[in-house]
Amino acid sequence: MTEWESLREQVGACTACELCRTRTNVVFGDGDIHAKLLFIGEAPGEQEDLSGIPFVGAAGKLLDDLLTSVGLSRERVYIANILKCRPPNNRDPLPAEQEACIPFLRRQTALLQPRIIVCVGRIAACKLIDPDFRIMRQHGEWIERRGILMTAVLHPSALLRAQQNRPPTYLDFVEIARRAREENLI
Ligand code: SF4
Repeated sequence: MTEWESLREQVGACTACELCRTRTNVVFGDGDIHAKLLFIGEAPGEQEDLSGIPFVGAAGKLLDDLLTSVGLSRERVYIANILKCRPPNNRDPLPAEQEACIPFLRRQTALLQPRIIVCVGRIAACKLIDPDFRIMRQHGEWIERRGILMTAVLHPSALLRAQQNRPPTYLDFVEIARRAREENLI
């Protein structure tokens, strides 16, 4: 069994927080396990819980569209969430749930060894970049930490609610793709 398979099995059997009681499926991750470009959201929603795949449904379709619009695709990156199980009614993940689950994301990250991490949405950016991260003001900014380039974009579900945020988000994706090419990641 590979380390990826072993980790997937552990996550599938996890009962470390209350969300194990209400999940339909664990949502482990999707994409290329050899990718150096890692997108991280906060938690599965209803469609993700039903399918076991991250970022499906309308928001996921929009993420796919944004990726393809800049020459990327789901198959050329890796996509995961901080939480592997859906919070009921899509509420924000609780701090204790994030703490319980984030070791799995850390192990995914250790296996992938990404060069670029893109936080998708406020909660991922606050957890992974800065607890005081202001997504509306700081999306598209870049930092380098322990050899990993990190940035954040607005969550596609926020773009579905506010169409005016799509052009700046598209520009953020243009820059992500530019840096990925510059780093020979794609
Ligand atoms: Fe385990 Fe994470 Fe699911 Fe909680 S959300 S039960 S920690 S896999």
